Amino acid sequence: MSGIGALRLILGDQLSAGLSALADLDPVRDVVLLAEVAAECRYVPHHPQKIVLVLSAMRHFSAELAARGIRVRHVRLDDPANTGSLGGELARAVRELSPARVVVTEPGEWRLAQEMAGWQAALGLPVEIRPDDRFLCSLAFFRRWAAGRRQLRMEFFYREMRRRTGLLMEGADPAGGRWNFDAENRKPLPPGLVPPRPLRFPPDAVVREVMALVAARFPDHFGSLDGFGWPVTRAQALAALEDFIRHRLPFFGDYQDAMAQGEETLFHSLLSTSLNIGLLLPREVCAAAEAAWRAGHAPLPAVEGFIRQILGWREYVRGIYWLHMPRYAELNALGADRPLPGFYWGAPTSMACLRAVVRQTRDMAYAHHIQRLMVTGNFALLAGIAPREINAWYLAVYADAIEWVELPNTHGMAIFADGGIMASKPYAASGAYIHRMSDYCRGCAHDVKAAVGPRACPFNFLYWDFIARHRDQLAANPRMAMPLRTLARMDPARVAAMRAQAARFLDSLR
Ligand code: FAD
Ligand code: SF4
Repeated sequence: MSGIGALRLILGDQLSAGLSALADLDPVRDVVLLAEVAAECRYVPHHPQKIVLVLSAMRHFSAELAARGIRVRHVRLDDPANTGSLGGELARAVRELSPARVVVTEPGEWRLAQEMAGWQAALGLPVEIRPDDRFLCSLAFFRRWAAGRRQLRMEFFYREMRRRTGLLMEGADPAGGRWNFDAENRKPLPPGLVPPRPLRFPPDAVVREVMALVAARFPDHFGSLDGFGWPVTRAQALAALEDFIRHRLPFFGDYQDAMAQGEETLFHSLLSTSLNIGLLLPREVCAAAEAAWRAGHAPLPAVEGFIRQILGWREYVRGIYWLHMPRYAELNALGADRPLPGFYWGAPTSMACLRAVVRQTRDMAYAHHIQRLMVTGNFALLAGIAPREINAWYLAVYADAIEWVELPNTHGMAIFADGGIMASKPYAASGAYIHRMSDYCRGCAHDVKAAVGPRACPFNFLYWDFIARHRDQLAANPRMAMPLRTLARMDPARVAAMRAQAARFLDSLR
C-alpha cells in the first residue's frame, strides 16, 4: 500500500510553527501527528492546570496547522482507540498511514529521548531526530563551552551568550559597562506598592472542554482548576509578553526576590509556561525586553536582570541537564533520604511561609523563583528530603515544569544534590532570610527571632542543624566559611539544644 510522505510527530512542549520537525514539510504528502496520551499526564501526578495547559495548547496548535492547509492527525485523550502512550500512538499512526519516514524534534526529557532512540528499530522505518533549535544555545555549543572547565559557572556562560547573541551589547562591551546589575535587585516589596495584575485568559470553549475532561480523568491529582488563565495560543502568549513588558518589566529587577502575602506574581513575567511549550521563543522575549530599554521604557538593571534569567539561567540549566544526564538525576551529594512531608501536598502545617507557597501552588500551579528556592526548596534542603521525592514534587506541581529545566533547578540549585555542579554553595538560609524578603512571618505561629523553644522558627534550628550535620563536607567550601565560623563560636549547649529540637521536629514530620 502506498502511504504518506513523512509522519511528523509534535510533542506537547513543541508547539512552535518554526519547529525543526516541521521544516521542509510537504503539505500534500506529509501528516503531522499530535497525541494526547495518559502516560504523559500520569508519569508524575501533574497539576490539573498543567495538563489543561498542554492539552488545550495542543488542540489550538493542531487547529492552526489545519487552517494553514496542513494535514493533521490529532489523537484526543478520550478517543476510544487511544493506546495511552506516545510510542503506542506513533505505532498506530504508522500502521494506519504507512509513512515513508518519521520526523521528530528531540524531546525535553531524558526518558523520552531514550524511548525515541528505540523507535527506528521498533517501527522498522527511518526515524529522523532533529535538534531543537528554538534555544539560544545549541547543546553542541554548550558541550564545547563546558569542555575542560573545572567549574561551569552561569555568570561566565551568560557573558559568552551576551557576546554571541549581541543582546545588551555596545560593541564588544556590555551595555552600561557592566555584565550584571544584580546588586541593585534585592529589595523587599515596600508597603503601599501594589504590583499590576498580570493579563490572564478566561477559558475559551476548547479550554473548558479540556478542563471537564481533566477533572474527570485525574480527580486525584493535587491542584485546583479554578482560575485557570494561562495563555494557550501564540496570540495570547504574545499579548502576555506585551502586558509584561509594558506594565511589570520596569520594576522586575527591584523586587525580583521579594515575597508578599496576597501578591503571588509581583512583577514577574509568568512567561515560563509559554516559553516552555513553545508559544514564545526565548530570542523574541529577550529582544522585546531589550527594545523596551532602548526605547527608554524600562531601566537597564531591570532589563538586564530579566534577560539574564532567559539568556543565562534558562539556557545554562538546559546545558547542564543534557551534559550530565542520566547520572545527574541519581546524585545525592548530601545523602538526603527523608520522605516528603504531607504538607507539600496540602496537609496542615504551622509554618505560615510554607502554607502560603503550597496553597498558592495548589491554586495557581505557579510560584516565583524565590518562593521555589528559598521556601519549599530551602526546607527540603535543610530537612534532608530525598532528591527523588522532592524532584517528583516540583515536576508535578508547576505548570512550567519539564524535566530539562526542573531537575537542575531542584537538584542542583535548591537541594545541592549535585554537590556543586551548578551552585557554588548550598542555598541554605535561616528564617531571617524569609523574614527580610517577605511578610509571611507576620502572624505565623512561630517566632522568627527564636532558634530554640516552643515557638522557635523551624527554619532557624533546621539551618544550624544542617550546618552542623554537614560540617565536614562544607568545610572544603570557602563560601561556607562564615556560617561554619559562627557555628564554632556558638555556645555548645545552645547548638545541642537546637539540634535536639531539629531531631524532634524532623521525627514528627508526616
Ligand atoms: P520570571 O521571574 O519572570 O523570569 C523570566 C523567565 O526567566 C522565566 O519565565 C523563565 O523562563 C526564565 N527563568 C528564570 N529563572 C530561571 C531558572 N532558574 N531556570 C530556568 N529558567 C529561568 N522554571 C521552569 O521554567 N520550569 C520548572 O520546572 C522550574 N522549576 C524550578 C524549581 C526550583 C526548585 C527552582 C528554584 C526554580 C525552578 N524554575 C523552573 C525556575 C524559575 O523559578 C521559573 O522559571 C520562574 O519562577 C517562572 O516564573 P516566571 O515566568 O514568572 O519567571
Ligand atoms: Fe516561615 Fe519561620 Fe517566618 Fe513562620 S516564622 S513564616 S516558619 S520563616
